Amino acid sequence: METVHPFDLQARARLGARALTALLDASRDGLMYFLASWRARPPRADHCLWDCGDGTGRHVDALTLAHIMAGRDPLEAEGAESRLEGWMFRLLDPAGLSWLPPEPWAEPWGRDLLMAGWREGERVAEINWAQRGTLQGLTTRFLATGDERYLRAARRLVDGLLAVALRHPRGLFFPEGYYREGGWRCRQPGLCPGIDEYNAAPIVPAVRLYEATGYEPALRLASGLAEFALYHTSGYLPDGRFRWPAGELEAHFHTRSNFILGVLKLGLVLDRREYVSWARQSYEHAKTWGTEFGWFPEGLGQRHGEICCTTDMIEIALLLGRHVDRRYYADAERFGRNHLLESQLLSLERLRAAVAALPPSDEPPPWQGRYSRSEGVVESQVGGFASRPTLNDAFHPDAAALMQCCNAAGVRALYDLWRHAVEEAPGRAIVHLRFSVETPGVRVLSYEPSEGRLDVLSRGAGEVEIRLPQGVGEAVALVRDERGHLVRGQALTGEAGYVRLRLEEGQTAEVRYPLPARTAHYEVGAEGGRAWCVGHWRGETLVRVEPEGSFHPLYGRASDLEPAQPTPAWGKPIESL
Ligand SMILES: [Zn+2]
Repeated sequence: METVHPFDLQARARLGARALTALLDASRDGLMYFLASWRARPPRADHCLWDCGDGTGRHVDALTLAHIMAGRDPLEAEGAESRLEGWMFRLLDPAGLSWLPPEPWAEPWGRDLLMAGWREGERVAEINWAQRGTLQGLTTRFLATGDERYLRAARRLVDGLLAVALRHPRGLFFPEGYYREGGWRCRQPGLCPGIDEYNAAPIVPAVRLYEATGYEPALRLASGLAEFALYHTSGYLPDGRFRWPAGELEAHFHTRSNFILGVLKLGLVLDRREYVSWARQSYEHAKTWGTEFGWFPEGLGQRHGEICCTTDMIEIALLLGRHVDRRYYADAERFGRNHLLESQLLSLERLRAAVAALPPSDEPPPWQGRYSRSEGVVESQVGGFASRPTLNDAFHPDAAALMQCCNAAGVRALYDLWRHAVEEAPGRAIVHLRFSVETPGVRVLSYEPSEGRLDVLSRGAGEVEIRLPQGVGEAVALVRDERGHLVRGQALTGEAGYVRLRLEEGQTAEVRYPLPARTAHYEVGAEGGRAWCVGHWRGETLVRVEPEGSFHPLYGRASDLEPAQPTPAWGKPIESL
């Protein structure tokens, strides 16, 4: 079995794409299984509503990004991507929305919470995550291929959402979590606490679509949903802190982090500084629910996490870093190189051992197992992400079900890190994240965490800036020519966290800096269910935690790694944020 270099983002993305295509149902045209029970014996995948617009859209988005970044893995299931895309398209109605098929397994979740009077057999469109995932998938496919089919469907989806959104003096809203064939059954805001933010989920891809294509209705939709949700949400205290949740929706961290990301993106695109400030302040408070190494809870106060939250937080940090303050890149790097990477399952052997050690569950499969599969579930998840890890372990018995949203989110975040590691402008390259990456202008080799060393080969003459690990202010550079002859040595002093030097065409700078060691204590959860660990750091890499996890321990990181060897992009990079 091949081994993946632990800091090779491209190899990880290839493996991630393999997992995204490996848990599909051949008897249903490749419909994905979004959920699986790790504790069933053997582990069992179940169909559910999130297989539809949410899951297929997220998977199409993530697969497209992975292929741009890293090409295709030879073991990636043949034709799986087009089958997922087929599902994504088939669920769209002529008015543009993504609907749930009228099947028992696709029944709405949270009916008592999110619907006024559910009746068995009603056809519904999940108005939040299904539309969000599909719009993200369509936008990414359009940007990657230029194929107008995707753009038309994306525009129709936006039009469909605008057509059913209710007007309010303070923006636009969806009164229920599901839209029905006969229309809304309740037309008032406030059906349950948190529904305003939950239903604002499509803001993120709507703003992205507007920015990428100028489609004005997408901006109208995003602005209306954001204005309404910001006005109505009761989830925040005046200083931006999360109010202790009143219900399940408000406790769902991914809902909150996705909303903050959407408001931030909207504020940046519209140049509305109050939105940017609100998002920045809320993000700072959101961080206090997780850890500085990128673990964030699935629900506020829980001690198991969710990778979707880590991805949102990375994306917020990258946007803040690019547009507001470069210091936020340090968050993106810490979240990315630590919890995100450690949560990817790279070894079948380790995964098998972990799953075998989990306490078994005798809960029967839903629908007497008619929509479930028990073959090859563990094998399908090599390259996938431990969707609900705790601080020191890929698994926690509090919630050991697999959620494929996190597989897609994990791959998306790998792309984000890869894409935003280096910012290029004519005559200038800025290394914000110290990963091994290759761009048209530079080739970067990162030796962290084995050594504080970054080699930057410059393909043209110009300035190179490098962000040093937080708290490090000095570096030295040895500059060599194409034949490896030393041109000069140079002491570098950091300014606002970055050092700067000039390179001529073909020169390589070998930049060395300290990786300070430190130890920190972390505690998460709430009364009755806490988790803690002590983390040992080298620079911005968490190299070891104590106590060691029981099932699939995290952070047993090697100290003698050669740098990962990057390759150029396999396709033309697109904007993911
Ligand atoms: Zn998730």
